[in-house]
Amino acid sequence: MGLKRTIFLERLSRGESIIVAEGYIFEFERRGYLKAGTFVPEVVIDQPDLVRQLHEEFVHAGSDVVLAFTYYAHREKLKLIGREDELEQINLKALEIAREVADRTGTLMAGNICNSTVYEKGNPEKERNVEQMFKEQIEWAVRGGADFIVGETFGDYGEAKLALDCIKKYGNGLPAVITLSAPLIDVTLDGVPIVKACQDLEAAGAAIVGLNCGRGPATMLPTLKEIRKACKCPIAALPVPYRTSEKEPTFFSLTIPGTDRKAFPIDLPACLCSRWEIQQFAEECKNIGIQYVGLCCGNASHYLRIVAEVYGKNPPASKFSPEMDKHFIFGRKLETNTYFTEHVKSQIS
Ligand SMILES: [Zn+2]
Repeated sequence: MGLKRTIFLERLSRGESIIVAEGYIFEFERRGYLKAGTFVPEVVIDQPDLVRQLHEEFVHAGSDVVLAFTYYAHREKLKLIGREDELEQINLKALEIAREVADRTGTLMAGNICNSTVYEKGNPEKERNVEQMFKEQIEWAVRGGADFIVGETFGDYGEAKLALDCIKKYGNGLPAVITLSAPLIDVTLDGVPIVKACQDLEAAGAAIVGLNCGRGPATMLPTLKEIRKACKCPIAALPVPYRTSEKEPTFFSLTIPGTDRKAFPIDLPACLCSRWEIQQFAEECKNIGIQYVGLCCGNASHYLRIVAEVYGKNPPASKFSPEMDKHFIFGRKLETNTYFTEHVKSQIS
């Protein structure tokens, strides 16, 4: 574990980029193994093989990190589904699966803590409660052999800072990746400008700071540019692959095109980015020097492979990247294929 932790920090200091697949909650909801609304990763103990397979699939598509599926595997969420007594079991199982896949594939394994959903700035009792929730999950991540710990999706600067402090206090020296997910454009929920929040998290000892979830590529990029300018450490960017805009800046605010119905969460597929849009996002991230890059809720392997390829990687899944030159209609032979030229070309030109 000590060696892997050093490898992670060394790779970052060499300027190497790290590709990170997230989005496990949405993917397992879509497949029918956890519930939209509560969004608790019950599948970890109900169907562990499926979790192992999705980790493997994401590594196949280019992920350098196996993120232990402990997102929302915390006390408050498990209470919601009446499985609080399985809290330790679910965390340790998720870590065991992730460690095993990372070792087998030569990737890094990250522990994962996230927004508690009960944090309230200035409420000492709530803060103590959240610290306790972070503490237990961080200690399990250490026991499970994580190489670093991701603390993510924090709307409040105060909660992000508390997560970082807890990783420093209980994380046995493991590096911390801290990402914010403010639903407002320029400030955290507790009123700290996002760029300043990232600077302060860097100053407080985060190895990487940045943004994850909530925003799609279009509304995350402008802020990422500001963060990149303001911070010295590596920056993380993990948007959701949905078409957010100035008018609808996060996936919570998206409406289904052509209607006035809100899309979150079950109709978000109506707002998905195209692969080309994901490619453009990855290219922009690379240009501005984003070093830790991936996709959050809504991610799937075909998107992640594009990010990996833009960053110059050649994951096993690239063997099957599109090669339309050999397509029977759209390939180079189109001109000589008179049957389709006549019947199809007129419709597609
Ligand atoms: Zn997400």
